[in-house]
Amino acid sequence: MRQLCLRNGLLYGFMRLFSSPLKTLRGASRTLRVDQFCSVVNMSSSLQIELVPCLRDNYAYLLHDVDTGTVGVVDPSEAVPVIDALSKKNRNLTYILNTHHHHDHTGGNVELKARYGAKVIGSATDKDRIPGIDIVLNDGDKWMFAGHEVHVMETPGHTRGHISFYFPGSGAIFTGDTLFSLSCGKLFEGTPEQMLSSLRKIMSLPDDTNIYCGHEYTLSNSKFALSIEPENEALQSYAAHVAHLCSKSLPTIPTTLKLEKACNPFLRTSSKEIRQMLNISSTANDAEALGAIRQAKDSF
Ligand SMILES: [Zn+2]
Repeated sequence: MRQLCLRNGLLYGFMRLFSSPLKTLRGASRTLRVDQFCSVVNMSSSLQIELVPCLRDNYAYLLHDVDTGTVGVVDPSEAVPVIDALSKKNRNLTYILNTHHHHDHTGGNVELKARYGAKVIGSATDKDRIPGIDIVLNDGDKWMFAGHEVHVMETPGHTRGHISFYFPGSGAIFTGDTLFSLSCGKLFEGTPEQMLSSLRKIMSLPDDTNIYCGHEYTLSNSKFALSIEPENEALQSYAAHVAHLCSKSLPTIPTTLKLEKACNPFLRTSSKEIRQMLNISSTANDAEALGAIRQAKDSF
C-alpha cells in the first residue's frame, strides 16, 4: 500500500500560501474537511513548500522564497527528482538542509552542490557524516533563509545528531525521521528518553504547526496505531482519510501537530487504552511506555 501512495509519481504542485481551499470530501467513515489535513500555510509568509517524492517513500522538500527567488531543499535523497523539479520552474538552488546523515536524506548532496554551488547545512554533531557540509548548526541556533527565521532544534533519538528545522513565520517544521505522521523514527542511535524529549520539544510548538517529515509511511503507521488504540475516534477518522488519500495517490503530508497529538501513539504515551493493549504498567513513566510502543511497532 505504501507503494500505492507513490505510484506513477505524485503530481501535486506548490502548496500555495495564498489559497486556503475549504473543500470537503467524503472519507470512508464521515465527511472530513480537507483543510484539516492539507497544507494551508500562513498567509503572511512568502515561503512556498513543494513536496518532491524520492526513492521509494522519501520526501525531499523544495523551499522557495517568493520575494527573493531563493530556493533550498530539505533532505534530498537523490539529485534527479530535485533537479527535475527545479528545471521545470527554471530555478537555481542555494541551500541544501539536512536533518540527519542517513543516505536516504543526504544522497543528493554532492551532485546538487556540484551542479548549483549550493551550501550544505546540517548539525555540528554530524559534521563528519554529512556529505559536503558547509554550515554547521547547533541546538537553539537561529539561521536565516532569505529573510525567514529558522530555529534549529536538536531532536536526537533516531540518530545522535538529528535536528529539525522550524520556520515559525510559516508555521512549518521539517522533522526528518524524528516525527512521522502516526509514528516516530526507529531508535538507531538513541534511547526512548532521548526520543521522548525530542518529541516533547516538537509538541511544545503551536498546535497548527504543519509537520513535514521524511517519509510517506502514514498508511502503514495508521494500521499499527489502530491496533493499539482502536477506540480512538480521532484516529479512526484520520486513518480513513489517509486511506482515501493513498487510494488517490495523494500525499498525506503535511500533517499538523494538533492531529498528531490526537492520533499518534508516540505522542500519547499516557493513553490508558494503549497501555492496556501493550501491557504497559500504569506506573511506568512515559519514556518506558514509548520504548514499549517502539518495540511493538518494530515487530508489527
Ligand atoms: Zn534516517
